[in-house]
Amino acid sequence: MTATVAVVGGGYGGITVAQALDDVADVVLIDPKDAFVHNVAALRAIVDPSWAEQMFMPYSGLLKRGRVVEDWVVSVEAHGVWLSSGGFMQADYIVIATGTSYPFPAKVGSHHAEAARRRIQATSEALYQAGHVLLLGAGPVGLELAGEISSAWPQKGVTVVDPAGEILSGTFMADFDPELSQRMRDMLHQQLMERGTRLLLGTAPDHSLPVPAGTLQTFTTTMRSGETVTADIWFRCHGRQPASRVLGRSLSMVRRHDDLIEVMPDLRLRGQRRVFAIGDVTATGALDTAVVAIEQAGVVADNIRFLLTGEGELGTYRPAQPVLSIPLGPTGGVTYIPDAGILDGDATAEIKGGDLFVGRYAAMFGLSG
Ligand SMILES: Cc1cc2nc3c(=O)[nH]c(=O)nc-3n(C[C@H](O)[C@H](O)[C@H](O)COP(=O)(O)OP(=O)(O)OC[C@H]3O[C@@H](n4cnc5c(N)ncnc54)[C@H](O)[C@@H]3O)c2cc1C
Repeated sequence: MTATVAVVGGGYGGITVAQALDDVADVVLIDPKDAFVHNVAALRAIVDPSWAEQMFMPYSGLLKRGRVVEDWVVSVEAHGVWLSSGGFMQADYIVIATGTSYPFPAKVGSHHAEAARRRIQATSEALYQAGHVLLLGAGPVGLELAGEISSAWPQKGVTVVDPAGEILSGTFMADFDPELSQRMRDMLHQQLMERGTRLLLGTAPDHSLPVPAGTLQTFTTTMRSGETVTADIWFRCHGRQPASRVLGRSLSMVRRHDDLIEVMPDLRLRGQRRVFAIGDVTATGALDTAVVAIEQAGVVADNIRFLLTGEGELGTYRPAQPVLSIPLGPTGGVTYIPDAGILDGDATAEIKGGDLFVGRYAAMFGLSG
């Protein structure tokens, strides 16, 4: 009898581990979405909705033997998962790859590709009509969105506000050498200034904003520091939330106070022989990137293969030196690659600006790209 591997979540990590084990196990990939979302292109799609035609990839082409179940896992236990449609799916191995949620437009917020495309299109039209855009958050999402808007519509005003005193604050750059981080911040800062982007740092709106995010309606808001901003639309560019509430009662002790899942170096949950976790939802100290989720998926696929066949040995995940790329639209940004150092906007555009890796993922799903 072949072992069953339940993969909970069909994002970057989940699709990679599911495809890697398809030849050796009965793989069941469970995700409420009707298509994989290539999130890396989400912010480009907001200024150019033609990208929304390419960023949703039906799961049907992913697995040859295994199956994809369109459902929501309400609880993961040591020997299987409870589905929102009712019923318990027993599994010999489980991989939790539920990632994080994030406000629209960084994450699309709908399980249906068609509805998500319509929302992207409508938001893009509203954005097109807006004269001034307010972005709350100067992390990677806020800066990347500012870059996309200022590239697509150089005449539009863009203001980015963040309570921290510098861009890219918080834990995001914690593992970077401070001098390196500062150089990257300086380069991004400079490029944003050249585009006329207004940065209000060390402050925040003193009241909640009077209109919902993503709505075309002119409003004025006052910052705690006294400046006022009049904008026609705004977006929340912070608020990442790890999707770890899926841990059932028998596993909940590995959920940390910050909602990340604690894993051992071989990416199994502490005390569990057959339950693994990968990607953004885990506390491995690595950056929240698709690159990391895919690396971890490779380690887990090898480990499950070892547990199934006895060939090889259990491997461990060690965070590699971080790679970071923040594009500012198709022609700017900054990238850090350990062997190459800090790369400027032109190099960033070359690395990421082209097809935003759509072709790579289209190939995984048997699409032409
Ligand atoms: C705007 C933006 C741009 C980015 N650009 C890059 C980039 O250029 N390069 C890079 O490396 N990284 C980039 N990232 C980061 C990257 O998207 C994440 O690190 C990556 O998605 C993490 O993969 P994951 O598999 O852990 O989770 P995700 O890709 O978030 O996938 C999680 C999946 O789990 C599903 N799920 C959640 N809960 C349940 C449940 N209870 N039951 C079943 N399924 C569930 C979700 O529907 C989702 O499909 C970007 C992120 C954003 C927001």
